[in-house]
Amino acid sequence: MDHNTAYTEVVAKNLSLIVPYRNRDEHLNIFIPYMNKYLNNINYSINIIEQIDNKPFNRAKLLNIGFDLTHKKHDYFCFHDIDMLPECDNQIYSYTEYPTHLATYVEQFNWGLAYGEYFGGVTLIDKNSFIKVNGFSNDYWGWGAEDDDFLKRCKNSNLQIYRRLGKYKSLYHKPNGDTSGGIVSADTLKNRELFRNATTETYKLNGLSNLQYSVECEQKIDNKTTLYKVKI
Ligand code: UDP
Ligand code: MN
Repeated sequence: MDHNTAYTEVVAKNLSLIVPYRNRDEHLNIFIPYMNKYLNNINYSINIIEQIDNKPFNRAKLLNIGFDLTHKKHDYFCFHDIDMLPECDNQIYSYTEYPTHLATYVEQFNWGLAYGEYFGGVTLIDKNSFIKVNGFSNDYWGWGAEDDDFLKRCKNSNLQIYRRLGKYKSLYHKPNGDTSGGIVSADTLKNRELFRNATTETYKLNGLSNLQYSVECEQKIDNKTTLYKVKI
């Protein structure tokens, strides 16, 4: 009898929770203790990826960096906006073998999705799927469309896509992007065009495969939480 097989089956999977971050310390101070309490019976670490250069914020690239820095010690990954606090049972953060959208019942979107195809806010994915889609695109600077691009990657790679019913409270910040009084920034317009033109061919060239960055500082915040200051 092969005892090893039986043992591997019961070993808990390890979650890397990855948070893109810049200049929202009020949210950070609420988010970290909240998530540490919330995830208590899950095997996890929290990894805050802070963009410290002066370029426009690049959420998707920060998420790729979080994956790159933590994938060796983790089995699955949660890409998590800092202004969303889960209020439902934490089993929605349990292991998945598919791209799985969690931010489905969100206070700031009137307790629903931002729009029908919304795939942002909080998503969960296993290591193989994330590598298969070559991660996120690194090219979405400023606000918008990087999450739509990610959904397109998953669909084009023929991955099954799931949603779990995640109920999220929202932390307030000044509106931006699409929500700032109907004025759409040049960055956002450019991102939308990038998204329209994205194909299976462009995915292969852009993502984990061409990721470049430097970690300027790595700081332990508590037992479970690490802050990485990066230039991208
Ligand atoms: N973010 C940040 N600083 C910024 C912009 C964005 O830390 O200046 C992070 C933060 O985790 C935030 C996420 O990126 O929750 C998504 O950005 P934002 O909340 O502005 O977008 P929304 O979804 O509200 O339109
Ligand atoms: Mn927000």
